[in-house]
Amino acid sequence: MNGRIVLSDSVLDSSILIVDRGLIEYVGPTLDRLPPNALVIDAAGCWIAPGFIDIHVHGGGGADFMDGTVLAVRTALHTHARHGTTTLFPTTTTGSMHQIDSMLSAVRDVRTNLGSIPESRIAGSQIAGSRIAGVHLYGPFFAPDKVGCHRQDGRRDPTPAEYDRYFESELIHIATCAAELEGAAHFYRTAREHGCLVTCGHSNATWAEMQIAFEAGMRHVDHFWCAMSSVSSLRSRCGTPMQASMEQYVLANESMSTEVIADGCHLSDELLAFAFKMKGSKRLCLVSDSSRALDMPKGRYRFGNEHDGEWFVYDGQVGRTMDGTGLASSASGLDHMIQIMLRATGAPIHEIIRMVSLTPAELTGIADCCGSLDAGKQADLVLLDSRLMPRRVFIGGVELEGQLMRDDNIKN
Ligand SMILES: [Zn+2]
Repeated sequence: MNGRIVLSDSVLDSSILIVDRGLIEYVGPTLDRLPPNALVIDAAGCWIAPGFIDIHVHGGGGADFMDGTVLAVRTALHTHARHGTTTLFPTTTTGSMHQIDSMLSAVRDVRTNLGSIPESRIAGSQIAGSRIAGVHLYGPFFAPDKVGCHRQDGRRDPTPAEYDRYFESELIHIATCAAELEGAAHFYRTAREHGCLVTCGHSNATWAEMQIAFEAGMRHVDHFWCAMSSVSSLRSRCGTPMQASMEQYVLANESMSTEVIADGCHLSDELLAFAFKMKGSKRLCLVSDSSRALDMPKGRYRFGNEHDGEWFVYDGQVGRTMDGTGLASSASGLDHMIQIMLRATGAPIHEIIRMVSLTPAELTGIADCCGSLDAGKQADLVLLDSRLMPRRVFIGGVELEGQLMRDDNIKN
């Protein structure tokens, strides 16, 4: 009670939200009588928002999901929960098949035990961190000239011999491949058959290649403007006449969705505002794309696997490649991203929050259980103060341990 409830299309002032057994039971005007024995929580004027959903995230707290251990997965989930993320999709990088197998099996182990949806519904259970909704198979099927900060020799073209195994794990819910690679269309069709959000990323694709990909089920592009084609990159690849790129394809096609890294380091405020203006909050997600450097001291870290991932330098704000010429993923949580997006766009709070909740939930097919504050959905909530800093986080109605939410623990 006493909070401003952020719905997907508006804000409800001085209303209440009632949670029962991990699910939202009621959202609306204050009732004359509360349920007997209700534990009343005073939101103290905070925004009461749905917990954030991150569809593109590599790690945090010193751990990368590609480390492939249960400890790494738990560490990253725990770290992101403190930033208000209640559901996420652990995201692969380039790397060996063995490393991807290890990552999938670590995710499966954690999901079966802690952090899964049924477990965290149990009142009083220890909340280990964000829930895992599925894995984003992101690396290794990148274009050779768009590998970015990922390990170059860990990329390859998609072959059913490799990816059929990943899809059969039933863990993959988001699947990325560069559209111009040999075998991409077959990969997209297989991913679509498995119900995935099908995405094109780390790609130097032309409009024509995007059209073929679209016909095979591709509907999303990873981190807009980063590691993707532009008119000028295609001029280098294809000469003249100049070709339309992934950028034009996404902006011209209403069915296409995309995402931005709104950490204030990757894209300027005007580009963030432009993406929002062109795609709107129903077709644009904010993603953390966070590396293991989130909540860690400045220093040198590996992107991807802890033993052979590419080194980068975290300067206290963002990761940078060792030669200093490029960015190497973000080191921010989604809490930071909503603050930057609000500054860049001045959009209403419910639209900003939609891009980290209902929109990613809809795109990945999990909106029936999370993504908005509607009766019947999981009580995954974040209380945000007037600066949009998370003050309290609830997953399935259970509050994240108080000690995790100490101000000095939260980087912003
Ligand atoms: Zn990434």
